[in-house]
Amino acid sequence: MHINVLIYSSDLTAHEYKPSHPFKPVRARLMSELLNRYDLISEKNQRIIAPPLMDEELLYLFHAREYIELLKKGEKGEFSVEMFRAGLGLEDNPLFNAMFKYALEASSGTYHGAMMLYRGDARFVFNPFGGFHHAERDAAGGFCYINDMAVTIADLVRRGQRVACVDIDAHHGNGVQDAFYETDKVLTISLHESGETLYPGTGSEIEAGAKEGLGYNVNIPLRAGTDDEVCLIAFESVVPPLIESFRPDIVVANIGCDTHKDDPLAHLCLTSNGYKKMISIINDLSPKILALGSGGYNLFRTAALWALAWATFCGLQPRDLHSGIVGGMMYGPEVNAGQLDDPPYVVGGWEKEQCLIHVRRVVDFIKDTIFPLHEIKH
Ligand SMILES: [Zn+2]
Repeated sequence: MHINVLIYSSDLTAHEYKPSHPFKPVRARLMSELLNRYDLISEKNQRIIAPPLMDEELLYLFHAREYIELLKKGEKGEFSVEMFRAGLGLEDNPLFNAMFKYALEASSGTYHGAMMLYRGDARFVFNPFGGFHHAERDAAGGFCYINDMAVTIADLVRRGQRVACVDIDAHHGNGVQDAFYETDKVLTISLHESGETLYPGTGSEIEAGAKEGLGYNVNIPLRAGTDDEVCLIAFESVVPPLIESFRPDIVVANIGCDTHKDDPLAHLCLTSNGYKKMISIINDLSPKILALGSGGYNLFRTAALWALAWATFCGLQPRDLHSGIVGGMMYGPEVNAGQLDDPPYVVGGWEKEQCLIHVRRVVDFIKDTIFPLHEIKH
């Protein structure tokens, strides 16, 4: 029996960076309400697990000790110039009460999930609290304090696992890229809005890995305004051939939802239709999957997209148990009542043409320069 695991702790949903900060761990609680409402969490093969804390020593598989010490001090209300240099106390990465505790607990979900997959205790694990792909070895960045992905993947590699990382969050996974840039043990593919218009500014297609890792770091920058159709041209052309050629033991999927057209931070124009299609392809390609929540700043859309991803990975169809109940919608725009999906949405005219020209150029570049390194014919 395929076991599907949701990492969930109501304690984690209660954290807040600061009231005005766009990153809201409460998104996971909204999703769990949708999983109940749409009858997606009552199957015999599903488990909900609050993970035990991981051993702090594991953090040093990626992070510098001095940086972790700064996190601990910052949590206690201390402040120093070194923290500033490490990105702590800035607008994006504020110091807050229980900051280190929160980051460690969230990362523990990712690590524990990976170990369940490694041991064969599960086929799919989703940690909505994970996916901090911007944190660097010695610095916080883009709302990320501990890079749960880099730490966990490093441990899996140490255990002899081949790991592919597929990152469909709107932002480039720069921290993960840097962690595995020179190794061929990890295949990293990131689809994201171009660094020309979005944080962190990196993620050009020419950043393709170095030394042994040349060809094992694949970036697919998308033009602002990219819709489902354009995104899927890139995803379907690049991701399946590379994953099939690499043959990973475990796929780590960063399934951030800030690609959605209603996201307030990024400028892509995806809907649930494109998102679900990518999730479905990842599901078909992967022997074992560790999915991580990552970004998403329209709280209702993020909760709905995560619920759809969960349904797809578990092979379930959402069914609204509240339909027909007056006032059944507990939150979110009433127009969305009764469904998690968005109506189709396409960008048109000049904007669409520019997106198509851009994506074809990027895909051709990858086919011409990276595919031959994997002996993939096209
Ligand atoms: Zn993001």
